[in-house]
Amino acid sequence: MVEDMGSVDQVAIVPAVAGSSALLDQVIAHSPIGIAVIDSEGLYVDVNPAYATLYGYARQEMLGQPFTMVFPPEQHARVLAGHQAFLQEGTALKGEFDVLRRDGRLLTILAESTRLPGAQGRPLRLVYVLDITDRRRVELALQASGRFLNSVLDALTAHVCVLDEQGTILAVNQAWRDFATANGAVASQVHEGASYTAVCQSPADAHGPAVEALTAFGVLLAEVLAGQRQHFQMEYPCHSADEQRWFVARVARIPGSDPVRVVVAHDNVSPLILAQETLRRSEAELQDMAASIPGAMFRLRHSAQAFWQFTYFSPGIEALFELTPEQACDDIHALGQCILPADKPAHDASLQRAVAQHLPWEHEYRIQTRSGRVKWVHVLAKPKHGEGGDTVWTGMLADVSQRKQMEAVLKASEDKYRTLFETVPQGVVYQDAQGRITSANPAAQRILGLTIEQLQGLASIDARWQALREDGSDFPGDQQPAMVALRTGVPVKDVLMSVIVPGRGRAWLLVNATPLFRNGELQQVYALFEDITERVLMSRELHHQARTDFLTGVANRRGLMDRMQIELDRVLRHPDVRCSVMSVDLDHFKQVNDTWGHAAGDAVLRHVARLMQQTTRHNDLVARSGGEEFALLLPDTGAEEAQVLGERLRELVAQNPTQQGSEQIAVTVSVGISVIAPADVNLDAVLARADQALYEAKHGGRDAVRAVLPQA
Ligand code: GH3
Ligand code: MG
Ligand code: MG
Repeated sequence: MVEDMGSVDQVAIVPAVAGSSALLDQVIAHSPIGIAVIDSEGLYVDVNPAYATLYGYARQEMLGQPFTMVFPPEQHARVLAGHQAFLQEGTALKGEFDVLRRDGRLLTILAESTRLPGAQGRPLRLVYVLDITDRRRVELALQASGRFLNSVLDALTAHVCVLDEQGTILAVNQAWRDFATANGAVASQVHEGASYTAVCQSPADAHGPAVEALTAFGVLLAEVLAGQRQHFQMEYPCHSADEQRWFVARVARIPGSDPVRVVVAHDNVSPLILAQETLRRSEAELQDMAASIPGAMFRLRHSAQAFWQFTYFSPGIEALFELTPEQACDDIHALGQCILPADKPAHDASLQRAVAQHLPWEHEYRIQTRSGRVKWVHVLAKPKHGEGGDTVWTGMLADVSQRKQMEAVLKASEDKYRTLFETVPQGVVYQDAQGRITSANPAAQRILGLTIEQLQGLASIDARWQALREDGSDFPGDQQPAMVALRTGVPVKDVLMSVIVPGRGRAWLLVNATPLFRNGELQQVYALFEDITERVLMSRELHHQARTDFLTGVANRRGLMDRMQIELDRVLRHPDVRCSVMSVDLDHFKQVNDTWGHAAGDAVLRHVARLMQQTTRHNDLVARSGGEEFALLLPDTGAEEAQVLGERLRELVAQNPTQQGSEQIAVTVSVGISVIAPADVNLDAVLARADQALYEAKHGGRDAVRAVLPQA
């Protein structure tokens, strides 16, 4: 602190002081304390070497100089005024001052002044000066480091307090103060000067740490305070009314601290705990899921060194492969050994393909388990790049034996169905929800005279079919069986319709249409049809024959009655529709037979029939109603027109004898006419009138036309 003093001259520092001894002089000269005597003018009367050295001067340089020289210029006036006041009042003056060394360095000194009586009643000032610059610096540094420490403490999120050996709280950081403000009683008892051990013994409040935790903590803390333990750490719950919280307390003696200092820190680890809890729960859920899914999940690691390893199997592997997850993980070949030899090459090839392309791997293969059961396994795994060039395959193994079995059954039934579809004589077409043909079997193609390519896309409503109903009327597409089945969802059975078949004309089909549903939704219609053209033609022929007269080729009585019934119905429905009926009987025909023979009589009958057909319209019906009797049905013909026609017919017959070899056989006819009336209840009534008219014609001399009309 004070420079080397060996070279300092030995001087009498206070010559003015009476009775000073040489010893005292020596002491003063060698004192490490700077000593100066200043007169009332503020001039140095004397300084000892330590004083001069302190300020960086030689002793002689200071003598007679104003003592203000060691102060900054701006302080000179104040310092001098203080000096004079001191000398007048004479009170002791002690204090720390900042002074200036010769080299401009600032010094902090501790100075103590005493007043000495001087000559002529002028007092002197004796000053002892001690350089405390270094001590001051250390003090400042200490203060700064204390502040620094506090700010560090305050910056911590943990709640920190510092205790002494007795457990008295020396410092509490900001985090603790904030926590105390926001929380319960225990926390708020923690403040500088309080006893921390007392806090630990106070009963826990509702939201503070649990009593057991607090007690355990108190015991451990006491051990640290007593030096039996250096540190400890414990986790404890500290739930608030609306929040689940956990804290970790860490207590440690500050190593080498003297006096002993103990740091207590409480850290809120709730987010961590909650995260752990969430993780644990989701892990448990995953485990649950893994255990409950049918089949097994797995993880397969393929290292950069082409080394394979199963790292995980869910419990389902046991049911599937009869291997525990451990067994399956421990031996990479355990699973592969179960694969049926026949399926192994394809299995390996598909895996290699997926590995090479880094694409999902999907394959189905058979295995045989230890117990000898053969199963179909489906594997689906997806690759993901792992660490260090690894590839991690995460996948799923599932038992698909049942599905495979069903597929086999389905395939067999499909095969059976396909054979049926291909070979049945009936035509089968499938039509989609819009009625468009999607497929057709060979029989359908043959019957409809179109190839599958021509059929596909064709709809029922297509005009090319020119469909007709059984009675010959138009059969609109939307009323045909397939469309009705599609519209109503109800099967349509045995509908007869005819369509035009290229190169063959009309074909008659007996059609059944069945709607097909999938998942409750009508998806398509299945139409099955039989070509019954031959049958229809045959029955038509029979029908025709049954209604045709064998001898003359005109309608017979049954044909007449059928047609008359239709016309009668028409008149009954529409009273203004007119329809006439004509009875025609050959006159004296018995004589023709008698004269020319029966065969000639037949020829006459054919001849007269032809004449009648020639005279009538296409829509009129000529029928042979009896031996030598004919009837004409004349739709849309009234009584007058019928009479005109009757006359014409009578004349025509009379003027056109039948040529028989070189001979001619002349006959005449009698004609009776009537009309169908809305009042007619049946055909007999109509025919009775026509017969009545015929009778009248006969009676009037034959070769005549008569009419009997219904009463108005
Ligand atoms: P009218 O009617 O003018 O009173 O005299 P008719 O001679 O024609 O009347 P009648 O009813 O007595 O005779 C009908 C004859 O017609 C009797 C029968 O031999 C003849 N006849 C009936 N059917 C056929 C047939 O199919 N072929 C031939 N050749 N003759 C038939
Ligand atoms: Mg006759
Ligand atoms: Mg007759």
